[in-house]
Amino acid sequence: MSAAGAVPDPGIDAMRAIMQWPDKTMIAVDFDGTLAPIVDDPDRAFGDPRAIAALGRLGGLGLTIAVITGRPARTVVRLGRFTSVPGLRNMIVLGQYGVERWDAATGEFSIPPEPDGIDALTAEVDQLLASLDLSDARLEHKGRAIGVHTRELANPRAAFETLLPRLNDLAERHRWAIEPGKNVIEIRAPGMDKGVALRSLIEETGVRQVIFAGDDLGDLPAFRMVQNLRAEGFPGLLVCSASHEEDALTEISDLIVSGPDGVAEWLGRLADSLAARRS
Ligand SMILES: [Mg+2]
Repeated sequence: MSAAGAVPDPGIDAMRAIMQWPDKTMIAVDFDGTLAPIVDDPDRAFGDPRAIAALGRLGGLGLTIAVITGRPARTVVRLGRFTSVPGLRNMIVLGQYGVERWDAATGEFSIPPEPDGIDALTAEVDQLLASLDLSDARLEHKGRAIGVHTRELANPRAAFETLLPRLNDLAERHRWAIEPGKNVIEIRAPGMDKGVALRSLIEETGVRQVIFAGDDLGDLPAFRMVQNLRAEGFPGLLVCSASHEEDALTEISDLIVSGPDGVAEWLGRLADSLAARRS
């Protein structure tokens, strides 16, 4: 509402711009916990078919569709099953926080070589886990990052609390970045985050407004980037896929939905509204 004296609402402004110029809108979405439910085995975190179908409809309505994930691009293209959706013919997947890329239009992956030092770092993480009697933690090897998952341990929270400062020290010593998430701590090669990735994709595609949806701490740089863009007059809408495991994003979001189910439902409603406007 923009009654005289009312506080401006950047979310409402963004929604208005999106409804008016869908073909100048980018929707960029995190994968795990946003498009896909969090499950014990990250290798089986498949994209929610309803959400993927809704993204396809939005792509068909002219929006630019992007997924920006901490996971390798190849993994997310497989788990998302994006290749079979007609409206996603031009989608872009940025993996490992924007270091890797897949373009649906060409089917090509751009994957830089693994950074030096990943093997030494992995060996140190193994030693640390053994010394803490936490060798049962699931390790996810991403090439540019190592994820230590505590979800399947007897006491996930205690293990997480024990590991966080130790892994933080280890990452600092190697000058790598640390990314705590939902029952997962990731150590990754420095230099990229989702905010940098989002901004460069916006510049490349020339869109004039953006929607970003995410669920976890790794999404914060993208949320902050959208806030910065808004301060520059570029409309942006922030959507939080909320869960009981993390609430860092709720306060700065325009819209809070209930996990991947809520995201799928909201994307479907957005596609319905835009389709209704067009007809
Ligand atoms: Mg996530």
